[in-house]
Amino acid sequence: NFAERSEEQMSGAQVIAQALKTQDVEYIFGIVGIPVTEIAIAAQQLGIKYIGMRNEQAACYAASAIGYLTGRPGVCLVVSGPGLIHALGGMANANVNCWPLLLIGGSSERNQETMGAFQEFPQAVRTSIYGRPGACYVDIPADFVNLQVNVNSIKYMECCMSPPVSMAETSAVRMAASVIRNAKQPLLIIGKGAAYAHAEENIKKLVEQYKLPFLPTPMGKGVVPDNHPNCVGAARSRALQFADVIVLFGARLNWILHFGLPPRYQPDVKFIQVDICAEELGNNVKPAVTLLGDISAVSKQELASKKSLPMNYYTVFYHVQEQLPRDCFVVSEGANTMDIGRTVLQNYLPRHRLDAGTFGTMGVGLGFAIAAAMVAKDRSPGQRVICVEGDSAFGFSGMEVETICRYNLPIILLVVNNNGIYQGFDMNTWKETSKFRDPTAVVPPMCLLPNSHYEQIMTAFGGKGYFVETPEELQKSLRQSLADTTKPSLINIMIEPQATRKAQDFHWLTRSNM
Ligand code: ADP
Ligand code: MG
Repeated sequence: NFAERSEEQMSGAQVIAQALKTQDVEYIFGIVGIPVTEIAIAAQQLGIKYIGMRNEQAACYAASAIGYLTGRPGVCLVVSGPGLIHALGGMANANVNCWPLLLIGGSSERNQETMGAFQEFPQAVRTSIYGRPGACYVDIPADFVNLQVNVNSIKYMECCMSPPVSMAETSAVRMAASVIRNAKQPLLIIGKGAAYAHAEENIKKLVEQYKLPFLPTPMGKGVVPDNHPNCVGAARSRALQFADVIVLFGARLNWILHFGLPPRYQPDVKFIQVDICAEELGNNVKPAVTLLGDISAVSKQELASKKSLPMNYYTVFYHVQEQLPRDCFVVSEGANTMDIGRTVLQNYLPRHRLDAGTFGTMGVGLGFAIAAAMVAKDRSPGQRVICVEGDSAFGFSGMEVETICRYNLPIILLVVNNNGIYQGFDMNTWKETSKFRDPTAVVPPMCLLPNSHYEQIMTAFGGKGYFVETPEELQKSLRQSLADTTKPSLINIMIEPQATRKAQDFHWLTRSNM
């Protein structure tokens, strides 16, 4: 069999050119000289476009831009010594820009007998495009170029596959979504990493679904068009300065973005960082959430979690507001429940809102609601009383539910339940506490028992109770409660317990002495 093989010879230059072709290289920029001229000629013969430049630095800049524009490394071909040194500027620029680039330099002769498999190119291509993209150098000894090899002895490595797409951790995605939804002045910063990732479609959807203002960096421009109504490019300084949550999509907090520090930013601005490079995360600032992964994939993950449960305050109040009669009394107490509720729930009549008031008192809500229901009953029958309570606030006077039922006042109690004061634990985190001998030493003071069925306090006395976890359940139970003018009801609305905090932040979860 061996005897039948062809004795056809091929030059090292042709092998190199074919190896580049096999790696899908389309363009070579360079300046030829000994020993790389043959490589350029061989490449042209294979249909690779060779662009001869006047200085290696410009050739290298050009090749790196090909990398940014196509996602496959552009090739820069130079001679050894000064050629390589001139090209260093382009290499450095590509590296700092995170753009893939393959620099091929010819060096002096080596005593090399056979060529064998040409492994360096696939490795170099992979290094340049996998992970954070960047520059790569392949050194080609002069004797490689002019060597004659038997065609049968050559084995080209397969074209290096596109980088695998990595997604961010789901818990981080959920947390990011929650931080964004709870932001008062969110801002999306779109960098050239987003452009390189071809994330335009998903980012545009994200901008529109979350109604996010966005700011492109110089080369992030055009990922979402500059004339999009959500683009705040014209008010760049203001946008940076007043944002309370900033999502970084492939943009680093370097000088271009004033390092993410005051006075250009709020001192307590929460950064959500999305990057493919782990080392970049947490650079300069301590981010609220880090999402390690490909921008296109991560933005899709964020889109998917938009509709995810549990609900947050805004989702709840949005659905409540939709159904509230304009003339109803709104009674409210709690921390976030009262604060956020006040901004979403509308009042159209004077003296129709009663809340924790000047003294900031918790426990007033049910008494106020009973009073309002009495007044409504006597002066304008049919008028409803909606009492919006945090789960902690409800606890202060919860037994007045018996009073409400005793007098059959058709009050609608909404308990916005996040398992705690300000915030509590989800069930899984809570269960961790049971591993400790003494819970009073480890349970955070703001935690209340998770998933408490406060609605059963209402059913215990003959009213209607609802336990709801989705917007649909909330809409339905509120509709039924409003329709029933004969009975009080309590809707226990489960929302996310932790809007801004990771369970890992609690020291005892990682403590070993149980
Ligand atoms: P700008 O100059 O536009 O602010 P930078 O060059 O500072 O952009 O940041 C680009 C960031 O994008 C880099 O940190 C890089 O690691 C990251 N990046 C590049 N490609 C991807 C990708 N596919 N997915 C996620 N991040 C990426
Ligand atoms: Mg940047």
